Amino acid sequence: MIKILKGHIIHTPTKERFEVHADSYIVVEDEQVVGIYKILPDQYNDQSIIDYGSSIIIPSFIDAHLHAPQYMQMGVGLDLELMDWLNQYTFMLEGRFADVNYAKKVYPHYVDALYEYGTLRSCIFGTIHDEANRYLVHAMKEKGLSGYVGKVNMDRNAPVSLVQTAERSLKETENFIRDFKDDSMVKPIVTPRFAPSCTDELLDGLGRLSVTYHVPVQSHLAENKAEVAWVKTLFPESASYTDVYVKHQLYGPEKTLMAHSIYLDSVEMELAKSAYIYMVHCPNSNMNLSSGIMPVTQFLDEGITVGLGSDIGAGHTLAMQQTITSAIQCSKIRHVLSPKERILSEPEAFHMATKVNGSFFESFGLIGSFETGYQFDALVIKDPSPIMDTLKPVEQLQRFLYCGWTESIQVRYLNGKNI
Ligand SMILES: [Zn+2]
Repeated sequence: MIKILKGHIIHTPTKERFEVHADSYIVVEDEQVVGIYKILPDQYNDQSIIDYGSSIIIPSFIDAHLHAPQYMQMGVGLDLELMDWLNQYTFMLEGRFADVNYAKKVYPHYVDALYEYGTLRSCIFGTIHDEANRYLVHAMKEKGLSGYVGKVNMDRNAPVSLVQTAERSLKETENFIRDFKDDSMVKPIVTPRFAPSCTDELLDGLGRLSVTYHVPVQSHLAENKAEVAWVKTLFPESASYTDVYVKHQLYGPEKTLMAHSIYLDSVEMELAKSAYIYMVHCPNSNMNLSSGIMPVTQFLDEGITVGLGSDIGAGHTLAMQQTITSAIQCSKIRHVLSPKERILSEPEAFHMATKVNGSFFESFGLIGSFETGYQFDALVIKDPSPIMDTLKPVEQLQRFLYCGWTESIQVRYLNGKNI
């Protein structure tokens, strides 16, 4: 089935610039983009056109790192640093998901909020609890959203209510993988919480599951200085934090997301250049917990793949618009303090939240752009203000990114369908 949409079409096939097609047509066949045209080819003359007037049409957002259970906790306890925040707030909250009825209360609000903000695909940490994780998958599918959901694995260094034996944790992970690996909308991802909460036995088993079932991996890396020092004492035989994951096949050979990655040594920087490795910059979270600021343009210029994540609840908003602008603002602060570091450009940051994050979703198709053959995932945005017609399409996008009004999102498309 053919769909033709008209409006100001903006995307970032490359990170260097916004590609703007003012007053143009985008043709979608079934789920995928056929092409963008200023003048519609004759073959489509009989087709009806969905005319969005002066609205802008952009790829929908993808969040590469967030914690669904922490939706309840956004903005709470953010005067603390990472380990105190985990111990005083997060672990207690996550323990409540042992009761699936609690998950049933929280997760519908969480998926509604993802939808409202235009984040139609995401890479999500659940909790250790099988029933609650399965309910989360169900809630995502009910809402028509796509993503990777990970059963969190922990077998030490957390309250009793949040640790399982390595054996049970692996068994539940394997069952979860088997049940969802062929799902077309929500797929499993191997999720050791972070090295300190896992024994070698658990990490080893998780690496084996990732390789056996060809399932990607997500975890945390080098977020906070105290955490990095702690990992050294927990894994004295490992050369670095990264090396802990490398040793257990949790850093490649399957695609891997490593959230934060602020404090990497020169050997770790080299390892990060692998095509399978994505560092996920989470600027709001890193500022809130005083963790640090990733030198993002340095990473990009050295050829490291960097995606973007909201990291709620340490991040205080699900809005990828504001995650994009925070990433830019963080790079400006680094630039002011150290002028040799360049500023992250708007197209670069937008590219991270769409095409780069989207490339992690290769088992769902081509994601995150309007190039031919990509899945048509899109947001149609019209600012309610009457002055918007006087702004150029890119200026409308800038205003949407910085001001972040969700009511500006008129229509959401996923896989070519208006959802
Ligand atoms: Zn996180």
